[in-house]
Amino acid sequence: MFRLLAALALCATPVAAQEKPKNVIVMIADGAGYNMLAATRMWTGAKLFADGDEWQRASLATYALRNGPEGEGQDPDLVYTSEKAWDVRPLSGDSECATGYAAGFAGYEWHRCTHPDSANTMSAMVTGTRTYNGAVNVDGSGTPELSAAETAKATGRRVGSITTVPFSHATPAAGGGAHNVSRNNYHEIAAEMLESPTLDFIAGGGHPNFDSDGNRVGDQATAKERFRWLSSESWSALNDGSSGWTLIQTRDEIDDLGRYGGDDRVIVLPPVAAAMQVERAAAEGHDPKTDAPGEAKLLKTVPSLTELAEAALTHLDQERGFFLSIEGGAVDWAMHANMLGRAIEEYEDFDAAVAAVAAWLDDPATPASWENTLVIVTADHDHLLFGPDVDEPFQPLEWHGAGAMPGYRWWSNSHSAQLVPFFARGAGADRLITEADEVDQMRSADGTARGRGRYLTQPEMGAAILELLSR
Ligand SMILES: [Zn+2]
Repeated sequence: MFRLLAALALCATPVAAQEKPKNVIVMIADGAGYNMLAATRMWTGAKLFADGDEWQRASLATYALRNGPEGEGQDPDLVYTSEKAWDVRPLSGDSECATGYAAGFAGYEWHRCTHPDSANTMSAMVTGTRTYNGAVNVDGSGTPELSAAETAKATGRRVGSITTVPFSHATPAAGGGAHNVSRNNYHEIAAEMLESPTLDFIAGGGHPNFDSDGNRVGDQATAKERFRWLSSESWSALNDGSSGWTLIQTRDEIDDLGRYGGDDRVIVLPPVAAAMQVERAAAEGHDPKTDAPGEAKLLKTVPSLTELAEAALTHLDQERGFFLSIEGGAVDWAMHANMLGRAIEEYEDFDAAVAAVAAWLDDPATPASWENTLVIVTADHDHLLFGPDVDEPFQPLEWHGAGAMPGYRWWSNSHSAQLVPFFARGAGADRLITEADEVDQMRSADGTARGRGRYLTQPEMGAAILELLSR
């Protein structure tokens, strides 16, 4: 009780101006809950970058306001409680919320039936307002909310949003300050990202002239297929110069970004369809569902998330400060397809980008440092991935040694509402961790103590970021 009161007292204390970060970097590994991180550690046999002692950690609750725009207020079924999340009562038959998967346990079914999506979760993390599944930076009634990206711009900072999936996808859209009543309105979202004054740097998938293997699309590709993520009008404006954006398309140009002027607006669209690597073809005779990481060669023409992050950091203004959203979006795409090997590839790519961001802050040659920059590393939501034994609820993955795939089982092809890992470091990290004043713990019906310990919620995270960005 004392600890809780102390935490509440700290909450009420305004953050001193000198503790406020000049730069804020929010890194989201889409879909990557505790077991996704564990799978990556088991495969590499090494710690993740944010496992280091310099990072503060907690857990993050990810639940939505409602499943969709209909209705009013908070749907009570969706609210996270330890009792619902860790319910070990066995269920027979199939899940009613994920076709083709065994129900397993009551907790699994609650996760499958109430899970959030990437739009409402990222929106809550950058606006401080919980909203419905599918909403991009609008509240429960569809009214636009002020986001971290816009707050950063209004306080004189430069703003970037980068991802390994289409730039107009839910997470980079919300991180980049777009607003829409539905994440599926990709053309509207792309147009807002390009036409509003908020963004200075964009990188992601969605190039209309290439397929998932980085080959030029032939004449048989329809306009609907090519212009899924941005309209042909937006694409034309990027190419004829009327958009005001500098369009970068090759890996060499990306690696040489220092030569573009600091006030330019730069969009990086590498030569690949939707996602950087996750949709490339499998090697001959291979199945990506059972492949270990690296079985299919990476596309050479496509940059890593580290290269995109370094390009963004080079481009964004170091004197005025910046807000940068970095998404490892394809972790989630691999997990939807139950391709653990590719999900590990994508998490390794994300973890390398975390290390690159840290190296850039450590480098005395850059004006940014841990004293003036906040870095958050977390996920937007989880997936249902556990160990291989069907009879053991919430079984951890089985370690089979570094370089071997761990023992695992998928319990869904979509998200879960489990708490996700949360790491913070740098200026203002204490302020974020202070919000983790709820505790996930319970004793299951089988007598096992379960829970992830202290956690904060996504609206709490968003509100703290807005406060830290205010000047
Ligand atoms: Zn997803």
